Amino acid sequence: MKVIGLTGGIGSGKSTIAQFLAELGAVIINADEVGHEVSQSGTDVWREVVAAFGSQVITHDKVIDREKLATIIFNDAEARVKLNRIMHPPIYRMVRAQIDRYRRQGIKVVVLEAPLLLEVGWTSLVDEVWVTTTDETKVLERLRKRSGLSESAARARIRSQLPSKERIKHTDVAIDNDGNLAELKIKVEELWENLQV
Ligand code: ATP
Repeated sequence: MKVIGLTGGIGSGKSTIAQFLAELGAVIINADEVGHEVSQSGTDVWREVVAAFGSQVITHDKVIDREKLATIIFNDAEARVKLNRIMHPPIYRMVRAQIDRYRRQGIKVVVLEAPLLLEVGWTSLVDEVWVTTTDETKVLERLRKRSGLSESAARARIRSQLPSKERIKHTDVAIDNDGNLAELKIKVEELWENLQV
């Protein structure tokens, strides 16, 4: 089995590429979704988040308000470290367990989509690192269209992550996503065909 770690900056096209890879036959693990799973209401992680950030980060239904938490951590490096210390170990453990399960099931290609794969040093979980890069102006435009995220909020999130230039130094495959979706799809299909499983 081959495990590909797919990473890249916010709005750089990770989910779009993961979707194309899923259509080609890969099984996707999305680290953000695992994060939601491990922090559901009533879990130890949920309790730790509430203890660290207060009831301001939970909704009336006692669910973690992700947008609120995101606004806090993307504007405060210390808060970000605090949240990562709570969230990353359980996410790591669940991702590793999922990879092991897929290996036992005989799955050929697993893609771990993880925005912070390099920042948190999870490369030991994967066989190859693929990084998507997109020009910042294009990212800002796509994010505005996708979620209506303001330019300043988007810039704060971009600044909180590793710069593209740094990411590319640690990658096996760099995918330039400055073109349109059809161009991106062709690139992904080529990479899939050349994948040595
Ligand atoms: P996040 O870090 O927020 O999870 P992401 O890296 O997963 O983002 P996507 O969600 O795949 O990025 O892409 C961001 C937005 O840009 C989406 O609305 C997507 O449809 C759009 N997009 C991605 N690639 C292209 C492209 N080549 N041309 C036009 N739009 C694109």
